[in-house]
Amino acid sequence: VLLLTAFVSLLMAIVHFSIKRSYPASVRVPYEWTASMLILIAGGFLAASAGRLPVVLSVAAANLSLWLALYLAYVGTQRFFGVKPHLRAWLAALGVALLACLWFTWAEPNYMMRLRLATLLMTALCGVHAWLVLRQGLDTFAKRAAFFTLLFSAANQLARAVSTFGSTPSTNVLDTSLHHQLYLGACILGFMLTSLSTILMAADRLADELKQRAAHDPLTGTLTRRHMDELCQAELDRSHRKGRSMALLMMDLDHFKAINDNHGHQTGDEVLINFVNGTREMLRPSDALGRFGGEEFLALLPETDLPQARLVAERIRARCAQNSGAMAHTVSIGLAITASASDTVRDMLTRADLALYRAKAQGRNLVKVG
Ligand code: GH3
Ligand code: MG
Ligand code: MG
Repeated sequence: VLLLTAFVSLLMAIVHFSIKRSYPASVRVPYEWTASMLILIAGGFLAASAGRLPVVLSVAAANLSLWLALYLAYVGTQRFFGVKPHLRAWLAALGVALLACLWFTWAEPNYMMRLRLATLLMTALCGVHAWLVLRQGLDTFAKRAAFFTLLFSAANQLARAVSTFGSTPSTNVLDTSLHHQLYLGACILGFMLTSLSTILMAADRLADELKQRAAHDPLTGTLTRRHMDELCQAELDRSHRKGRSMALLMMDLDHFKAINDNHGHQTGDEVLINFVNGTREMLRPSDALGRFGGEEFLALLPETDLPQARLVAERIRARCAQNSGAMAHTVSIGLAITASASDTVRDMLTRADLALYRAKAQGRNLVKVG
């Protein structure tokens, strides 16, 4: 069982390492999770070699490895969630525990005290780790799995510590008594399931990250065209159901090519970002802003009638015209409002586009209704 565990732990370490290498840095998969698994393997082998190795290795180094493995898993999860680890305090605690372990090995040999020390420390390590996950909110299966397996591990260690007050526990990690086998099995199961759930947590974060990237334009942070299409469709369905009007503003910066040509693409990019920031200030939190093409943006204004939409569009246009110097630019806006119950998103976009075309044709820096 120990050999098989070592093998599975090695596989876990490899998986953790490879996701660390291949996932985007923003997913923040920590190296500590890999290190934890490797040290766990070392600790398992040291503990299993009791009697064949010098005591300092089979007892002190084995205990230290197991504590370090649990501690590193905890630090890894802290880093994963962006929580600052209290490295010094915990390393000092582990140092003191190691000294106590050495004391009860040589100065005053007492296996029972050593076992209590080790199991209580592991209870604390699994306990704080579970608490950390709980504090993040158990909103996903992965977090719930991590929390409950850590709680299970803490309970297992605590039960072991408590059991030392009743019976005389075995001094051999390879002991075959049912009591001991159950404890060991629960330890292994806890470690493996916790490790698996951290892999799931990382996979969840990768999925969130990819969804976020797919829905947002990297330059301006506005929504992508595909995401806007989905939002517009959902909002139009809702406005039909509720019998309320909704508005679309198609916005195109005027003579934008000239800004690029005269001041360079860098300035062009800054103008786009500046336009988006200014426009956002004119919109409500429930409105959506998307990038439709190079310097073309679409704003979706739910539950908005024509006078309100015209006012918003007029404010966006006026604010845009205030910029001076290299950033000076204006915007033309085509406005469309829901007309009938059979109106589709495509109909509205066509009307907004035609209105925009008229705004351009009539001299730019204008708002036109389609
Ligand atoms: P109009 O008033 O008729 O809209 O003229 P315009 O110059 O704004 O329109 P045109 O379609 O001729 O040019 C749009 C320019 O936008 C061309 C393209 O190089 C530039 N562009 C598109 N995307 C980006 C971008 O992400 N960054 C920068 N800097 N320029 C971009
Ligand atoms: Mg343009
Ligand atoms: Mg254009």
